[in-house]
Amino acid sequence: MSEAAKPAARPAARGGRNTELPEHLKCYKGVWVFVEHDRGHVNPVSWELMGEARKLADKLGVEVSGVVMGGPDETLDAFAKEAYAYGADHCYIMRDPVLKGYRNEPFTKGLTDLVNKYQPEILLLGATTMGRDLAGSVATTLGTGLTADCTELNIDGRALAATRPTFGGSLLCTIMTLAYRPQMATVRPRVMRMPRRDDTRTGDIIEMALGMVETDIVTKLLSFIPDAERNTINLAYADIIVSGGKGLKNADNFKLVWELARVLGAEVGATRAAVQAGWAENERQVGQTGKTVRPRLYIAAGISGAIQHRVGMEGADVIVAINTDPNAPIFDFAHYGIVGNAMQVLPVLTQAFRTHLE
Ligand code: FAD
Repeated sequence: MSEAAKPAARPAARGGRNTELPEHLKCYKGVWVFVEHDRGHVNPVSWELMGEARKLADKLGVEVSGVVMGGPDETLDAFAKEAYAYGADHCYIMRDPVLKGYRNEPFTKGLTDLVNKYQPEILLLGATTMGRDLAGSVATTLGTGLTADCTELNIDGRALAATRPTFGGSLLCTIMTLAYRPQMATVRPRVMRMPRRDDTRTGDIIEMALGMVETDIVTKLLSFIPDAERNTINLAYADIIVSGGKGLKNADNFKLVWELARVLGAEVGATRAAVQAGWAENERQVGQTGKTVRPRLYIAAGISGAIQHRVGMEGADVIVAINTDPNAPIFDFAHYGIVGNAMQVLPVLTQAFRTHLE
């Protein structure tokens, strides 16, 4: 259903294929963001998407809506208020006991019912575990196009131009859903900037009932077991990250990354090569198949700067690279470069910061 093209082509340019938006879909208007929340907290990716939704909607001259679904005893109105602060004009709220705790069936029904009734032209979700699961089933149920893991969203004509890496990250492609509505996309946390919050903004609430009972749902939520490791590693939203790569040579040397991170109060990141070598947990991988990060400071030690790593960290405010090879690709986009042996440079930095910070 989605049409891949770079440069983006308009409907008329597709030889022989019917890409004109059917008349009955032209009434689809507005940009929606699914507001993902869990245990009383909204996933910040929803607000990052709200900022993008605002930009897209302003280009289209339409309004932005948040979709908040959950149990009757959850603070859904407070989430709606936050949604306004981050750029929404309206919020669609669906409350039902069966929506307490995410399950695919009731959330898919709820979101598809809302879409069928209120007809948005664009629907955005976070590329999180929940967002990926929900987006796929909603797109399939609605019979529309979904572009996953986008790195850029734009408007071309009236169509959503959703850009994402392809061919192992070596190319970017722009995908448009030309003949179906809504146009759906998921975006990973931290790919988009967090918009400025404006608590003076307000909006209105549209409530809709789900119309499902517990016995309609096959999946049962028995208990919640937090993943201790996942909950302690907060790479995506860390302010400072010290990352290590294959240039560190072995697990013992990788401890130098930990030591600097400890002194700076930073998180530890790693390249895929370092993770595959067993020097760091999967959760610490930065890059195309790992986490996207946007820290204030990213220190890269023994990292070549391959494109698949770069796409995950180039949004950092300041990148400092330590590499023995003056021609390493990372020096092409690092703000500060230290040509040197990381096993010597890291302890010097650790000692210097320790003297100043402790
Ligand atoms: P290398 O490329 O081996 O670089 C090591 C660097 O260390 C070199 O530049 C070298 O000059 C330097 N060095 C050597 N000795 C020292 C020293 N003593 N001190 C300082 N520097 C030294 N990679 C990711 O990181 N994240 C991803 O999400 C990811 N996803 C991928 C997805 C796909 C589909 C594919 C095909 C690849 C992916 N990769 C990913 C792998 C990526 O292509 C690179 O192979 C990887 O990033 C390289 O890791 P590295 O920089 O640690 O190792």
